[in-house]
Amino acid sequence: MTAAFSARVDAALASPTLKLAIDRTTGTARSKRAAAMAAWPEFNIARDLGRDIKDHVIENLEHYLVTFEKNAIASGAKVHWAETGAQACAIVVDICRKANAKSVTRAKSMLGEEIGLPHALEEAGIERVETDLAEHIIQLAGDPPSHIVWPALHKTREQVAELFRTHHRDPGALASVEAMVGSARRQLREKFMAADVGISGANFLVADTGAVCTVTNEGNAELTTTPPRVHIVTAGIEKLVPSTAHAMAMLRLLVRSATGAELTQYTTFHCGPKQAGDLDGPEEFHIVLVDAGRTRMLAEGLADMLRCIRCGACLNHCVVYRQIGGHAYGATYPGPMGAVLTPSLSGLEAAQDLPRACTLNGQCQEVCPVAIPLPTLLRGWREKAWQQGFEPATVRWAVALWRFLILRPALYAAASAIGLRLMPLFSRNGWISRLPLAGGWTAHRDMPSPTGGTFLAQYKRRMKK
Ligand code: SF4
Repeated sequence: MTAAFSARVDAALASPTLKLAIDRTTGTARSKRAAAMAAWPEFNIARDLGRDIKDHVIENLEHYLVTFEKNAIASGAKVHWAETGAQACAIVVDICRKANAKSVTRAKSMLGEEIGLPHALEEAGIERVETDLAEHIIQLAGDPPSHIVWPALHKTREQVAELFRTHHRDPGALASVEAMVGSARRQLREKFMAADVGISGANFLVADTGAVCTVTNEGNAELTTTPPRVHIVTAGIEKLVPSTAHAMAMLRLLVRSATGAELTQYTTFHCGPKQAGDLDGPEEFHIVLVDAGRTRMLAEGLADMLRCIRCGACLNHCVVYRQIGGHAYGATYPGPMGAVLTPSLSGLEAAQDLPRACTLNGQCQEVCPVAIPLPTLLRGWREKAWQQGFEPATVRWAVALWRFLILRPALYAAASAIGLRLMPLFSRNGWISRLPLAGGWTAHRDMPSPTGGTFLAQYKRRMKK
């Protein structure tokens, strides 16, 4: 484990409030998802369909990109292509400058975070107003997101009240969650109406209509994209689906997996700019299609990961994420999906800790609505890290020693028996809280003293029964 990752994990584990905040949100998400799945016996059929839709699009990516572009242009949109995140940011800033934009509103988009769009807007001197409630909270706090669905998950409601008291003009009593939402609404309302440009992401890009689908529970995407003169969409090229019917099939999976609801409060298909006779809508509608490493993922054997619909279920069920939260991952995407994506986006050397920070218990794959084999992909990164020599010398020595022993069964049995006899020396009241060469393990948890002999001895006994 690198020192930087270790320090972030230690800070997360030492936080007196982080675990409470994580448990509150992920606990609710898990129980709501479980209830939704119990009421949906066709989940496995729907999941297979979702997997097949996304696989089909990825296998025919060029066809669907061209089809989407043609239909989006026909509806009046301007389509831009960005090979890298930096190019995408430059395109967005250029559109904002041409629109003489002083202020932009932004609906939550993880792609925007991935490519560094908030920073690019600030550097260009353009006021950026995050309009998703959770994004508004972390913008006030100056924090990066810690979850892909609930970016402010690391904040307790008490901390949010404190932030609003400090930063809102008219916070009121803030005695309840409803009062806090009211305070944010008053704060954001005039920003919505004054913005020159609205920037959103896309949950799905519908190839046969050229429409962009967004889902929210707050209606902030609609308020971000409708009043301003210009609407800019930034979307990863993997967001394509062939038709509206396919988008609806994916929405059923996305929303139930993310929040346990049947549908989000607001589901909007944005189709081009304002047309003659429309009461409202933007005069310009731009769509920036972003690659930023996605086609490289195909070559890296990560095509399965391009199915991801960013539902967050794998984070909510991950035993590691639930202990350390999102910031400890040090990347835009945390949890199991982030541990697979980040080495591809940032390079394996920089992100080598993330595939290792996994117990491989398989919960993430079980809940994933598009059946991504996350543990297999994580093992793939571990193998590459090993081949490229990123494992520390101590780990390589330990594995070499283990390999030496395991290939010599008699020696292995003797070494296990000696180890078993030594371990009680470090035990107190049936628990081991310090063990030489295993300080990383025992620093944060105690280990029960082994009982009943070595694994091999127990196995032999059981086989005789
Ligand atoms: S990997 Fe699967 S479970 Fe995780 S966010 Fe993506 S779609 Fe959801």
